This record gives sequence, C-alpha cells and structure tokens, in this order.
Amino acid sequence: MRRIYEEYLEGKSYQSIANGLMKDKIQTVTGNVKWWDSTITIILTNEKYYGALLQQKTVTVDFLTHKRLKNKGQEQKYLIEDNHEPIISKEMFETVQKEKERRAHLKGNIMGDRKKYSSKYALSSKVFCGCCGANFKRRTWNSNNVSKKVVWQCRTYVNEGKEACDAKAVNEHVLQDAFVRVFNRMYENKDGFIRTLKANIETILSKRDAQEPLLKIDEQMEQLKDDLKGLVSLKLRDQIEESVYAVENARISKELDELRQEKATIEKDNDHKSQVTQRVNEIIQVMNARQDLLEQFDDDLFNAMVEKITILSPTRYLFTLKSGLEIAEFEE
Ligand SMILES: [Zn+2]
Repeated sequence: MRRIYEEYLEGKSYQSIANGLMKDKIQTVTGNVKWWDSTITIILTNEKYYGALLQQKTVTVDFLTHKRLKNKGQEQKYLIEDNHEPIISKEMFETVQKEKERRAHLKGNIMGDRKKYSSKYALSSKVFCGCCGANFKRRTWNSNNVSKKVVWQCRTYVNEGKEACDAKAVNEHVLQDAFVRVFNRMYENKDGFIRTLKANIETILSKRDAQEPLLKIDEQMEQLKDDLKGLVSLKLRDQIEESVYAVENARISKELDELRQEKATIEKDNDHKSQVTQRVNEIIQVMNARQDLLEQFDDDLFNAMVEKITILSPTRYLFTLKSGLEIAEFEE
C-alpha cells in the first residue's frame, strides 16, 4: 500500500495508480483483482496506514469510555496489543492529504479561470493509452525550431520503450480538433443528445438502492463491537487465556476493518451517483447556454464535458463524457 502513497506523490492520478496495480496483478485487501479509482481514494485517506491510529480511535470511542478501562496503564496495554505495523509514516500521510487538497484546488481553478491556464492543463491527466491504459504525457518536439510540435505520448512508451507499449504519439491540435467535431455533432443534435443524457441519469439512479446493504453492514459492525466488548471484559476478569484473547481480538478487528472499507466503498458509490447526476446537469446547461457551433478548441467546454480521451490509435479516439457516455471519433 506504500506504493500507492508513493505513486500519488509522484504525481500519478488515481486511475493510473489503479492501472499499474492491475497490470502487476496486485490484489485489493478483499482479494479483488479489479482496482477502482475509488479504492485508491479510500486507501489514501485511511489513517490506518500510518500505524494503529484507527484502532486506537476505535478503542477510544467504543471501549475506553468503559469504566474498567479508564486506567492509563491498561489503555496503553490494549492499544499495543491492537497495534499493527505502520505501513507509511504519519508525515507521508499528511503530505498526501495536502497534495489532495492542492489537486482539488487546481481542478477548481481550471474550471473557474480560463485565462490563467493554457490548454495543456485542459488535456492533462485526461488522455489515456488504449493499449496499456497508462496516462499520455505532453511533449514538445523540436522545441527550438520552426517545426516545433506538441504531441501526447504514452507514458509507458516514453519510460519503458516500444517493447512495453507501441502506441504512437498524437498531435495536440489533432486531439483538440477532434473535440471540436465531437462537440459540434452533439450541438447540432442538441435535443436528441440531451434526451440521451437524461436517460443516462435515469439508468444510473435506478441501479440498486445502496441504503439496504449499508444498514446490514452497520448491524454487523455493531455485533462485532459487542463481541469485542465482551472479549475485553473477559480479559479484564482474567477469564480468558492471553493467546485466545489475542487471536480473537485480531479476528474481530480484521472483520471490522473489512466492513469499514466495504461501507466506505458503498458510500463512495452513492456519492458517485449524485456526482454523475450533477455533471450531467452541468453538461445540459453548457449545451443550452451555447449559441452556436464551436470554431476552435475551448478549455472550459472540454473540462465541463470530457472525463477522458482514450487513444485507440493515432487516428481513432474514444471520448468518455462526464456522464459516462462514450463517443468514438476518427481522424479523417
Ligand atoms: Zn501505452
């Protein structure tokens, strides 16, 4: 998990960290081979990765209020038993939280202030390789002479060479022109397009109601916490052997951790639904506000509408809109 923190601080996006983990066939805590960017977010915000702090908190909130445990010496003892090895330093954890804020801030600025940021920011971290899934990097060729050219190129190709990924570079203006065509096509068929978007929202919202599993998880967690309480009081009354206590304690803590993570994922999913709805509404607003066809690339429009572009080949691109809608575009 340390790797996730390191790669995030190296500037990688959630998606590209997830892609790397899948490429290396690393499994999630729950044994899943599929990594979502939400899994990465959860890990990057989970305090337990810098040691036993989450455990301590749990113990503090749920058990240290227990009268028998008010003694400081005992508190220390149980905390140590609950402890697991820190995976990253507290400092690193905090640096990551700051970086998250910075990126969120940057994103906000791009949406709000178009003059300050050039188009290289608009495309940044939105162009992906259709061959290997990595990010595309912006590069300037022949920067000193007239044949200067700005291209986007697969990070894997740039870092590891043609054997690792043989995706070709794409000219920046070609990608920008492709967006202009995609936008104009949508604009020309605005009513149909908006109808499709609205149908999209309906589909997303009609997917299984996630409240029920949440309630079930809460129930299970309550049960486990009760079990843990019972265990701790047995221990305090010396009615249980040290080794049995340790094993049981570890099992319950592990199950609690897993449930917490599951809960976070479901909550994230619910959040995601409302985010998508909001984004679709934004797209509809943008379309309605627009008075005529687009003549040249526009950062704001691109940012408002496009989640990512997947480069399938130098002449074939897949635009994924923020609503989740995918639109293929070809270079004639
Ligand atoms: Zn690639």
